[in-house]
Amino acid sequence: MTKTIQAIRGMNDYLPSDTSVYQYVENRIKKVLLSYGFSEIRLPVIEPTILFTHAIGDITDVVEKEMYTFNDRRGKSVTLRPEGTAGCVRAGISNGLLYNQEQRLWYMGPMFRYERPQKGRYRQFYQIGAEIFGLQGPDIDADLIMMTARFWKILGISDCIHLELNSIGSLESRKHYNHAIIRLLEKNVQVLDEDCKRRMYSNPLRVLDTKNPAIQALLDNIPPIKNYLDDESYEHFNKLCRLLDITGISYHVNQRLVRGLDYYNNTVFEWVTNSLGAQGTICAGGRYDCLVKLLGGRHTPAIGFAIGLERLVLLVQKTFPEITKPQSIDLYLIAVGKGTEHAMLLLSENLRNELPELKIIQNFGGGNFRKQFSRAHKYGARFVLILGESEIAHHHCIIKNLCNGKQQIVPLSQASYIIRLLLNISKK
Ligand code: ATP
Ligand code: MG
Repeated sequence: MTKTIQAIRGMNDYLPSDTSVYQYVENRIKKVLLSYGFSEIRLPVIEPTILFTHAIGDITDVVEKEMYTFNDRRGKSVTLRPEGTAGCVRAGISNGLLYNQEQRLWYMGPMFRYERPQKGRYRQFYQIGAEIFGLQGPDIDADLIMMTARFWKILGISDCIHLELNSIGSLESRKHYNHAIIRLLEKNVQVLDEDCKRRMYSNPLRVLDTKNPAIQALLDNIPPIKNYLDDESYEHFNKLCRLLDITGISYHVNQRLVRGLDYYNNTVFEWVTNSLGAQGTICAGGRYDCLVKLLGGRHTPAIGFAIGLERLVLLVQKTFPEITKPQSIDLYLIAVGKGTEHAMLLLSENLRNELPELKIIQNFGGGNFRKQFSRAHKYGARFVLILGESEIAHHHCIIKNLCNGKQQIVPLSQASYIIRLLLNISKK
């Protein structure tokens, strides 16, 4: 017997019962993005490896442990994208989108990270991300964060998600902070795990990201990063906080928030929920003013975020369990008897022309009335339209409401008009 082929671990199939919720969430987010003047950009899922090692940083979880990297047939190292910002910046530079202009771009698609699969953490997952290029003030940071707050509002989940905010300062000011971290870690090497030992010199800030409780306790002893911010970064963060205060967006300043990728500076933020267990970060982002130059463009200030769609959908489903209900159809077409199949094909064409917004399924594969009715029920149809030999002879059909059992005989020429009335649809 042939063994059935399984999907790769951590890579999911998204079944119709899931995709309806994904579409619901994605469509609402896209509407808000459009209203803020963002345009969509579609990017390759596979890029030269160097793009990610360079942009994300060698000493990060993503580059060290999580990338799907392999050689193509010519021996060139390529990587399945683990995130969207690097590719977006690459595309922006090579297509001349960034020089001396503002850009507001959004993207959506699969990302790939070789992680241990668990609830809310997969090896292929989807992100919706947005990037703004060419603006550097704290006002645009506030605008972007307010837009994300609007996503949660229109999805009805504002009450179960909160904002964590921090500034990690300029690259320069971070050097001083790194020294302070190294000094503390050197005094406590015995507490450190392998990851932190390796990172303490190459990327000390990353140690703040540790999930190891013993090291977290140790880190309580270093002064907060805000004590090390240069004047400009300090002022930027203060202004951002003030703008969020004015607009009523609550936030928690989290001095430990440094984000997992190297390219951030100044503003960093995460929207976190307590409802999904360990995988609580739904949306994460920050400012990355040096990345465009690092990847070969002119200096261009930038800020962006990415939403993990699986986690967002889990949260929406948890808040509104009824949303997962399978979608019902409006009308099921039943035909029994000689010549009725042809007549039904013509009628269904006519109904689809007249009522393009309706979900209509026509019975195929024959069967008696009972069988066809049971199929209609399986589809959750609201109405059935019945065509038998006698109906055809009299140029009419029967329309039955499956919710209350009421039925009526209707002239064929008026079928679409009556269905429109019954379903309470206005003519466009
Ligand atoms: P985490 O700390 O949970 O690993 P991260 O800092 O690595 O997250 P980012 O690179 O900031 O994540 O990605 C942005 C968002 O993408 C995350 O907040 C999360 O919602 C989602 N995300 C990241 N990795 C995964 C994954 N393996 N599976 C599902 N969603 C993910
Ligand atoms: Mg991660």
